[in-house]
Amino acid sequence: MKIAVPKDAHPGETRAALIPEHVAKLVKAGAEVSVESGLGQTLRIADNSYAEAGASIAADRNALIEKADMILRIRKPLPDEVDRMKADSIYISLLDPFNERELIEQFRTQKISAISMEMIPRITRAQKMDVLSSQANLAGYVSVILAAERLDKILPMMMTPAGTISPAKVFVIGVGVAGLQAIATAKRLGARVEAFDTRPVVEEQVKSLGARFVKIDLGETGQTKDGYAKALTEEQLQIQREGMAKACASSDVVITTAQLFGRPAPRIVTEEMVRGMQPGSVIVDLAVEGGGNVAGSQIEQEVDVDGVRIIGLGNLPGRVAVHASQMFSSNLCNLVEEFWHAEEKRFDLDFDDEIIQGCVITHRGEIVNEMIAKHYGG
Ligand code: NAD
Repeated sequence: MKIAVPKDAHPGETRAALIPEHVAKLVKAGAEVSVESGLGQTLRIADNSYAEAGASIAADRNALIEKADMILRIRKPLPDEVDRMKADSIYISLLDPFNERELIEQFRTQKISAISMEMIPRITRAQKMDVLSSQANLAGYVSVILAAERLDKILPMMMTPAGTISPAKVFVIGVGVAGLQAIATAKRLGARVEAFDTRPVVEEQVKSLGARFVKIDLGETGQTKDGYAKALTEEQLQIQREGMAKACASSDVVITTAQLFGRPAPRIVTEEMVRGMQPGSVIVDLAVEGGGNVAGSQIEQEVDVDGVRIIGLGNLPGRVAVHASQMFSSNLCNLVEEFWHAEEKRFDLDFDDEIIQGCVITHRGEIVNEMIAKHYGG
């Protein structure tokens, strides 16, 4: 089986989908791996290192795509790239399938088997393939580092002959994978940390990291079988905003990470709440790519509202591209290895397996994923 790794088509993407360590593993399993020349450039990994790991290096991206039986990437392909792919070939990357109707339709008509890494089910066996978790973890870390750099205060308490400086206060809204890492990072830097999430199970996790859980009675909330939050009603969201306004107003840093699987991010921090914060405070909106948790946050921008800085940068894992690539590549390699047919040296799309059932979106001209078919009214 020919596995190809073209460079990403997304402008500014710094991550690489496969690193030499995992090329070597796939080659050892019997795959023919080809990578586009310059794949590791942003990570300072030379073509040579890929070649030494057993990959062939392709200068022509189009030819690489045309010959591939499987393509591994960070993000979606361009439309003309899908046109070039062989029928029955497999494309694996993040695909944002709930928002990419045209792409999914193109995969379907071109008879590509498209695998969405977002849709890998959250079962124990698939944790090693879970790019949402591996990348969210890094995003949580980066969010605190960014905030610390933009804040004109320090995070830890300092007792010095020149006086005592009190620790900065960090408020984390949404305590999934990214939020937990943000709490842990802020604690390591010495901040006082508070956090809130609508899923009640989170309270213990917050406390175990030494942070305070902000209690707001929202009535019935809960989570899905995959551990994702259920959407709140507009009334519940209003109670949440009122309950959090005080915590925001007294914080130097607010980090928002609230997401709803397959839906736009909830709008949690209103303009009034932003204006209630002290000038010089910093908000990092990690959900900005999914619509944003904070009124006024804009993708790839730092917006100033009466001295409060709202940071809405996308692709935070891309700012630590070496480790982000290492983890992403490992997740992809684990997926390929899990379904590798050792004798026939090919990826086995085993539709009896719940991982394959969960993550394959299109196959042989059909939308085979129930959730996505339903989403598009199929
Ligand atoms: P996510 O990225 O979908 O959402 C981030 C957080 O936002 C979640 O904790 C969610 O509850 C919260 N949120 C949603 N609406 C909110 C609101 N209005 N106000 C405040 N918070 C709000 O979630 P995630 O980080 O991908 O993970 C969610 C859970 O799944 C976590 O507990 C995680 O540990 C668990 N998980 C399990 C597995 C597994 O394999 N079993 C893998 C990954 C994650």
